[in-house]
Formats: sequence, C-alpha cells, structure tokens
Amino acid sequence: MKFLITAGPTREPIDAVRYLTNFSSGKMGYALVSSARARGHKVILVTGPVSISPPKGVTVKQVETTREMKQSVLKYLPSVDCLIMAAAVSDYRSVKVVKGKLKKDKKFINLKLVRNPDILKEIGAKNRNIILVGFALETDNLLREAQRKIKGKHLDYIVVNSPSAFGSNKTDVVILNQQGIVKRFSQASKRAVADFIVRTLERVKK
Ligand code: C5P
Repeated sequence: MKFLITAGPTREPIDAVRYLTNFSSGKMGYALVSSARARGHKVILVTGPVSISPPKGVTVKQVETTREMKQSVLKYLPSVDCLIMAAAVSDYRSVKVVKGKLKKDKKFINLKLVRNPDILKEIGAKNRNIILVGFALETDNLLREAQRKIKGKHLDYIVVNSPSAFGSNKTDVVILNQQGIVKRFSQASKRAVADFIVRTLERVKK
C-alpha cells in the first residue's frame, strides 16, 4: 500500500523570530512511518519541525505552517491509498505577521488569530476512495468528541488520546471506526499502537 502520513506540530509565525505551536513531538506519526515501512509499504511523510529522523526509504516533505501542510497533503493525496493525519495542526494563525522583531514598548498587546483550514475535514468532505485516519487529542468527553469528529470529518478511523501522550513513548488510546470502539490501549508503546493501526488498515478495502 501507499501511505501519506503527517506528523509533528505546525508553526505559525508572529514576527521574524517568534511563532505559535504546541507540544507535539512527532513520535506517534514517526512510529506509524516506521511501522508501515517495516511492513513493506511505500510512505510519504509530511512533517512539521521535530527532533527525530525518519527511517530510510521514505519520501519526506518538511513543512512549517498549517497552510504549507495542506498544500503538500493535497499534492500527494491522489497517489496514495491511505492518509493518516497524526500531525497536531495549529487551528489558528496570527492575522498579521510583524516584519522584523516585535518590540516590548507597550504594556499590553493584542494578538488577533484567524482559523486555519481544517485539512482533514476538507478532504473528508470530497473524498470517497482514500482511507482516512484522524487523531484527536481530547481532555474531556473523549469518546463523544471522537464520535463527533469521525462523522463530521467523514473518517474511516479516529485514534483518540489525552495530553499525557505528548512527548512520551507510551500512550493511552482508543481507536474507533464509524461503528464504534475497535481497540483500547493502555500505556502501550507508540510503536505497538502504530503496528495495530497499520495492520488494521491493510485489511480495509475501498
Ligand atoms: O483538531 P482536531 O481535534 O479537530 O483534529 C482531528 C484531526 O484533524 C487530526 O487528525 C488532525 O491532524 C486533523 N486536523 C486537520 N486540520 C486542522 C486541525 C486538525 O487536518 N486544522
């Protein structure tokens, strides 16, 4: 199979030296890349800035902003069987990017943010041929939120985790399809979760 996998955080600039981002380490996305490669699949990785290296034999596209990630994902999408959006995409970006460095001459400053495109939702609304997998990081009502997202984004699977997964090699996850819960993992290695996801996707026919 041919997989398109996104990983890591995105960065949204505020000025020439500062940006908005999140705590994503990229470990889950890179575990999926390693797992898919180890099982003999072709992999294209679209990655935000992280400190880990991808395995050999993978096509890698480095991006920073959500809009750059969207552009790359749309470019590679027609050539793949499955998209796994493991990236922690920035939902908002600064309306204005200040040229040079923002000065600290005022006591208060306002940062006005605007919604970024929802890459997966836009793809889910149009696509019926490619297997779509989303991730969701939730702090409350995990399963209810996951069910809302899998339907709202027209996904085949969603993998729900909690913020404790950030930066860790272990994770607690629940994997759902449109019918309900498929599998729960408690303090499992990200690689074990990745292996399960890749094996599950090998059996999906679209
Ligand atoms: O942020 P949210 O919980 O809605 O993210 C669920 C899924 O949607 C994740 O797989 C994430 O990569 C994707 N997403 C996206 N574009 C965004 C926000 C999230 O593709 N702007």
